[in-house]
Amino acid sequence: MNAQREIDIAAAPPSDSTALRELYLIYNENTEKLRAAFESLERRFREIDPCNIYNSINEGLVTLDDEENILTFNKAAERIFGLPEQEAVGKSIRAVLPRCEAAFAQYRRGDSSGGRYEIAFKNGKNDPVYLKGRFSPLLDRQGAEIGTACLFTDLSIERLLEEKARRSDRLTALGELAAGVAHEMRNPLTTIRGYLQILPDNKDDEDFIKEFSSNLIREIDRLTRLTDDLLNMAKPISPELQRERLSDLAASVGFFLSDKFESSGTQLIVEEDRGGDCVLIDRDRIKQVFINLYMNAIEAMREGGEIRVRFSRRTGRLSEEEKEKVYAVAEVIDNGPGISSHVLDRLFDPFFTTKESGTGLGLSLSHRIVEEHGGFLRVESRAGEGACFGILLPLAAEKE
Ligand code: ADP
Ligand code: MG
Repeated sequence: MNAQREIDIAAAPPSDSTALRELYLIYNENTEKLRAAFESLERRFREIDPCNIYNSINEGLVTLDDEENILTFNKAAERIFGLPEQEAVGKSIRAVLPRCEAAFAQYRRGDSSGGRYEIAFKNGKNDPVYLKGRFSPLLDRQGAEIGTACLFTDLSIERLLEEKARRSDRLTALGELAAGVAHEMRNPLTTIRGYLQILPDNKDDEDFIKEFSSNLIREIDRLTRLTDDLLNMAKPISPELQRERLSDLAASVGFFLSDKFESSGTQLIVEEDRGGDCVLIDRDRIKQVFINLYMNAIEAMREGGEIRVRFSRRTGRLSEEEKEKVYAVAEVIDNGPGISSHVLDRLFDPFFTTKESGTGLGLSLSHRIVEEHGGFLRVESRAGEGACFGILLPLAAEKE
């Protein structure tokens, strides 16, 4: 047919035949290009075999039959679990993936967590692995459930990097603490040394001796306060926690500091805790937090004032994955001068103080104590409007 047409074209008048031949050549050329493109597409389509995708992804993909035995195990799963596919197939997932029962049970129950799974373990090659994954139903072409698919991401490297960053943060904090201690000690020591140096020449001057002893006592008190605060800072919380009512503790610390309240003209009002909520705490450490908050309020209200302690409950969670927690809240509210925003930003920094004789360790220590109990210490204040410090501690479970 083509050959026939070509003869016809050749026989046509020269002008027409040239045009037609050109058209014919273009047509042929384009057909050729189309065929090449089609073949290349066909070749690539053959390469995108589901099996290649399955083995190329970085996530571990494991499928299970309805008895939770492994059906398939992709290349990433081999790497993560340190186990070749032929050894894994046929085994129960429980033999390969440690402590997965709880996540599996959640998945079976259809919980909202959807069988999400996070675990650290040593794999078949004894390498530490940090795994995050989830279970989902494995369906056949008709949509019927025939088993389970498990998709896992290996987060080991991310975890190592996070740990490294945390360690370097801790070292930086330790360095800052050491620098702060050295700085705080240098001032009183310099003063003491200065006075001792001029003592021999002034030992008969009564006024000097009076000034000498009062200043030395002041500087030594300052050093004692600093060492006390530092010792408190280093003390870990006791592993044996006691069941306590925050309102009882707030009142007993008030009693303990009654002299200070009296001499400063400050009134302490501990409101009734209607919920009567209990918390599990190291009594002495939480007592220390109340002491620090009461003393700060007393020191802030130079002409006296009122400190009110109020109790309530808060419910919340830190992240989507976490379960909701209930916290018992004690708020220490004063009607003093309040805290300006630039002071508020640095309030919990170790050694931050606006007081002549302050150590600046009270709030950073209190913050740490409350956090070690799994709680929070928060502050709300504006200059001229008093301050409110909230201690939030996880509620103790009901007593059986
Ligand atoms: P220190 O009491 O030794 O100064 P803290 O860590 O206890 O150290 O407190 C840090 C700073 O926070 C105080 O110097 C003060 O400026 C401010 N502050 C704390 N509590 C209050 C309060 N109730 N009212 C006003 N300012 C406060
Ligand atoms: Mg203080």
